[in-house]
Amino acid sequence: MSRATETSIFTEMTELAHRTGAVNLGQGVPDLDSPPALLHDVSAAVLAGHNQYPPAAGLPALREAVAAHQRARYGLEYAPDGEVLVTTGATEALAAACLALTGPGDEIVTFDPCYDAYPADAALSGAKLVTAPLAVEGDGFALDADALRAAVTGRTRLLLLNSPHNPTGKVFTEAELRTVAEIAVEHDLTVVTDEVYEHLVYDGARHVPIATLPGMRERTLVVSSAGKTFNVTGWKVGWVCGPAELVTAVASVKQWLTYASGTPYQAGIARMLGAVEDWAADLRGTLTANRDLLAAGLAEAGLSPCRAEAGYFIQADIRPWGFTEGLRFCRELPALAGVVAIPTSAFRQGTDPAPWLVRFSFCRRPEALRDAVKRLAALGGREGARTGLTERTAPPPR
Ligand SMILES: *Cc1c(COP(=O)(O)O)cnc(C)c1O
Repeated sequence: MSRATETSIFTEMTELAHRTGAVNLGQGVPDLDSPPALLHDVSAAVLAGHNQYPPAAGLPALREAVAAHQRARYGLEYAPDGEVLVTTGATEALAAACLALTGPGDEIVTFDPCYDAYPADAALSGAKLVTAPLAVEGDGFALDADALRAAVTGRTRLLLLNSPHNPTGKVFTEAELRTVAEIAVEHDLTVVTDEVYEHLVYDGARHVPIATLPGMRERTLVVSSAGKTFNVTGWKVGWVCGPAELVTAVASVKQWLTYASGTPYQAGIARMLGAVEDWAADLRGTLTANRDLLAAGLAEAGLSPCRAEAGYFIQADIRPWGFTEGLRFCRELPALAGVVAIPTSAFRQGTDPAPWLVRFSFCRRPEALRDAVKRLAALGGREGARTGLTERTAPPPR
């Protein structure tokens, strides 16, 4: 099977969660509330009959709202007509950008670990994905500028940046982004930047879109989505902003992938985006508390949590429990402790400098997190866990 058609670790772990009744902290599917006004507006749009194809570029109201959001929040100016394209989630925007701008013989550079759609998108377009590992630094991750420089060749067309970053929860600092921008300008690269967690940044850290840096707007496609911001991951409404020439190229592919989608959702999100600041401040509060609850629980259970500055996920080092391999740990954990997590190695392309990292999601109701923490603590407290349970456990079926 090719990379793009493999069964993913998410499918395996979700099945395992169903089979064992484990608390699923694997996939980033929130069970948190959505803005009531948004749910109401979408229902009203359906009942009012807004149920047919929208314009291929998206409802004008949503394109205007996206442009207003970029201007108010970041000072970035995009023309709603021509420089904003509504897509079927960020997923489609990323795939369409790779398909539009790269092909066989081209290379796409991204950081390692990376979101699992990137290797699949590169495979679909026939381009080669080349990764630059993020450096493990203390309890977090940092840009390795030399690794990025080494990854760029004469065949590199796209630099795929994800900040805030999944799976690490890293927010690229402005200084790091300046370095990335310098390399992009020097090698005349187009930057596609996945900013779906733009609003979910904690502890006063600041999300800086790389498009705001000098010389970057004209070479950057900014991708975002309503899914993570409003806890509506099932709606699949995303968008991409950039210079008209790049957006037109993406639109020309997008029209044959889905043409358009989600008319009533687009109508609701167009209104909600104008009120995003208050909503997002509340959601950050909820997610910060969730993260702290989970981090404290992981630490109490004897695992070592990493820093999580953004998004839905926290990594933990499993070596204190006697495990060295995240995949094996994750396959055993549901039966052992009734919790599902995802090995960070699943997001790795190159050699893994830290195969003992495991990703837990905290986009869940506090009850679910408390339940998970209790289960982990019960196991972590047992002597066996610390001396390498894996040696006494039969290997999992696959
Ligand atoms: C969830 C996620 C996406 C997918 O966004 P959709 O709008 O649901 O398609 C893209 N990139 C990252 C990093 C994500 O975590």
